[in-house]
Amino acid sequence: MALSFKFGTVGSPTGTPKKPGGSVGAIEFSKSIGLDTLELGWVQSVRVTEATCALIKSASETHGVALSVHAPYFINLNADADEWHKSRKRLMDAAHYGFLAGATDIIFHPGSYFGNDPVEVLKKAIPRLEGCVKELEKNGDKVTLRPETMGKSAMLGSFEDAIAMSKAMDMVLPCLDFAHLHARPGDGTMNTYDEWSRLLEKYGKELGAKALKKLHIHLSGIEYGAKGEKNHLALADADLDLKALFKALNDFECGGRILCESPIMEEDALNMKKAWMKVSTQR
Ligand SMILES: [Zn+2]
Repeated sequence: MALSFKFGTVGSPTGTPKKPGGSVGAIEFSKSIGLDTLELGWVQSVRVTEATCALIKSASETHGVALSVHAPYFINLNADADEWHKSRKRLMDAAHYGFLAGATDIIFHPGSYFGNDPVEVLKKAIPRLEGCVKELEKNGDKVTLRPETMGKSAMLGSFEDAIAMSKAMDMVLPCLDFAHLHARPGDGTMNTYDEWSRLLEKYGKELGAKALKKLHIHLSGIEYGAKGEKNHLALADADLDLKALFKALNDFECGGRILCESPIMEEDALNMKKAWMKVSTQR
C-alpha cells in the first residue's frame, strides 16, 4: 500500500556513509532506511557537472527516490538590477542542473520586501519569475519552481505571496514550509486543525484540487519570536502540533512530498512518516 506522501530530508541525511558519499550516497542511504524522496541542498552555490547530474539521476531512478533541489539561499526576486542578474543565474542554474539530475521541483527563497509593500514587491517579482519560466520552457528544463513560504514577516514569501506567484504562471507552485507558516505570525497561531484546514481549503480553491495531491512540504519544529522564525528545532523540542496538521492534510486528501528540516534530519523524517501512517486513511 503506497502512502500519498513520500518522506525525506532537505540535504543529505546525517548518517550518509563517507563512501560513496555525495548525492548518490545520500540517495542510497535514504532508500536503505525507508525514505523515498530527497531534496538536494545546493544552498551555497550550484557546482555540479553534467556527468555528476547523470549519475545522480541514474541513482534516483534505480532506487526510486524522488528528487528536488533547494536552490542557493542568495536569490532575491526583489533585488536591484545588478544583484538580480546574479540571483537569476543562481535560480536558472539550480533549475537546469537540477533537471539534468532528475529533480522535478526546484525550491527557492523568494527574497526580501526591503520594507516595501508586499503588493508593490510582487509587481516586480512576478514578471521576473515569468521571465525565468519562459526561458526554462524554451530550454526544455521541465521543472516546477517552488517559492518557499518564509518564516520571517520581513521576507517575501507569505502564504499569499506564494499563491500569487503560483497563480500568475504555469510551472510555479508553492513550497509549503509549515514550520515557517507557524512561526511567521510570531504569536503561536497557525497551529490548529482549523487554521490548517482553512489554509488548505484556500490552497485548493486558488490552485485547484489537483495541486493538493502534489504538495511540496518542508517540516520541522521551530523556535520563533515576534518577528517570526528564530531557528529550526527537532519535533520533540517544539510546539508544532504535528497531529493537527496531519489530520488536516489527511482530511483534504493531500499528497506529495514531506521533506524534514529538523536538526535530527532522518530521525525526524522517519518520525513524520510513522505519524503519517497512523493518521492516513488514503491508499
Ligand atoms: Zn528553504
